[in-house]
Amino acid sequence: MTRTGGVGMSEELRISEHETRGKAGVRRFGMVIDLRRCIGCDACMVACKAEFDVPIGVFRTWVPYRVVGKYPTVKKQFLPRLCNHCDDPPCVRACPVEATFKVEDGGFVLQNYDRCIGCKACMASCPYNARFMLPEHRTRTSITQVVDKCTFCYHRVVQGLVPACVQTCVGRARVFGDMNDPNSEVSQLVARHGSQTLRPEQGTKPQVFYIGADRNLTEYGRNIYDPVPEQDEERVIFNRKNEV
Ligand code: SF4
Ligand code: SF4
Repeated sequence: MTRTGGVGMSEELRISEHETRGKAGVRRFGMVIDLRRCIGCDACMVACKAEFDVPIGVFRTWVPYRVVGKYPTVKKQFLPRLCNHCDDPPCVRACPVEATFKVEDGGFVLQNYDRCIGCKACMASCPYNARFMLPEHRTRTSITQVVDKCTFCYHRVVQGLVPACVQTCVGRARVFGDMNDPNSEVSQLVARHGSQTLRPEQGTKPQVFYIGADRNLTEYGRNIYDPVPEQDEERVIFNRKNEV
């Protein structure tokens, strides 16, 4: 890790050798999620599951929500989540065998399944809970018992396509593009609107930007595997109605 100055230099100015945002000659892909447009339809989650055959019980992207306001003026507030493809990713630094790495052109943080020893160091270091262990039994692939996460659909992007979740988003709440290109839609959205990233205090420099996020709720839904009270309640009502 390199520093831009001597002792006393502000932490905000710290530059890591991993960073690709603002670097000349390389692309830096990012995603903007406009929460004013997200209707919580979960099409992105389904598209992602289909694209990668993501097993039951684990997710590359998920859409937690919270009910806010007071009856009768209540609404659901969604906060879609995925790997932030951090510009200074702690998961890359934590991996003892370089199974997790960053692609210079594009800034994708990826995973090499063959190298991964399943130690979970990357899972422990990710402040966004974006990684999970692939379960032992899978029906369509032999890749199991290694860590996985969102790849920003690297395989699609290198073919000039957008990620599956972006392609399928009915409200166009998800927009994807090169943050290093000032003319890209993502750069212009971030420049035009106040955007937020999750947990900026962690210094990871996330490349998923939210428009319209409630500052008080940006921690919400981080732990996908914890029961969410509102969703749990809905599940109970559904099960009762359908006698499940
Ligand atoms: S969100 Fe987590 S898994 Fe993704 S790059 Fe950042 S630290 Fe790594
Ligand atoms: S679980 Fe795999 S990718 Fe994660 S730190 Fe260990 S070896 Fe690296």
